[in-house]
Amino acid sequence: MNSIDLAGIGMTSQRTRERLIQRLEDQGISSQAVLDVIRMTPRHLFVDEALSHRAYEDTALPIGFAQTLSQPYVVARMTEALLSDGPLQRVLEIGTGSGYQTVVLSQLVAEVVSVERIEPLLKKARERFRKLRLTNITASLSDGSFGWEEQAPYNGIISTAAPQAIPQQLLQQLAPNGILVIPVGGEMVQDLRVIRRLGDSNEFDEDVIEKVRFVPLLGGVTRSFR
Ligand code: SAH
Repeated sequence: MNSIDLAGIGMTSQRTRERLIQRLEDQGISSQAVLDVIRMTPRHLFVDEALSHRAYEDTALPIGFAQTLSQPYVVARMTEALLSDGPLQRVLEIGTGSGYQTVVLSQLVAEVVSVERIEPLLKKARERFRKLRLTNITASLSDGSFGWEEQAPYNGIISTAAPQAIPQQLLQQLAPNGILVIPVGGEMVQDLRVIRRLGDSNEFDEDVIEKVRFVPLLGGVTRSFR
């Protein structure tokens, strides 16, 4: 687990951040650990400067390349669900994007492995990890549609992009009692699903906890945009 050294990062008004935390609590987020990490994570560093004044609103924000930084409520809900069975050692994130969800996770679990298919987004996210001095994150350019076999198995997997159906490889890459949090469905709306591997068996438990709207999980890797 890492923690963020806030010196030199430029804290935005504490009151604005507290309002966000209050709102998350009002909406039912109850994990104090998750709320504390969101309170301490400088979300304004994950968007363009022109949008930074909106960084502590409970809304999704554009990060370029037709992608979005998730709404804080959704980040909190997914993180809380991922950690609902207790602390996790190694977590795979599919869709690094801005790196915000990655940084939230890196403060709550021992090790985060994250994959992103759009290289310019990955590069920016890596710079942010460096700036925040978080050393327990490995981020790679890769199509995560089939997970990331290299570092499997994972105690937890979280996808921040939505497939139409759950890729079987993700289930196979879960460690015994591992937990997968993933939005699944069509373009407009998806079910946020929480899937647990039962012991070391090939059986899985499944809950649907929320309706959400994520960008689609796409195949292939993009190195640059013209
Ligand atoms: N967690 C991010 C959310 C970014 S949006 C954040 O906090 O900012 C989802 C991201 O998933 C996008 O950056 C998109 O490029 C990425 N993505 C979509 N399909 C993917 C795939 N198959 N493999 C890896 N990343 C993917």
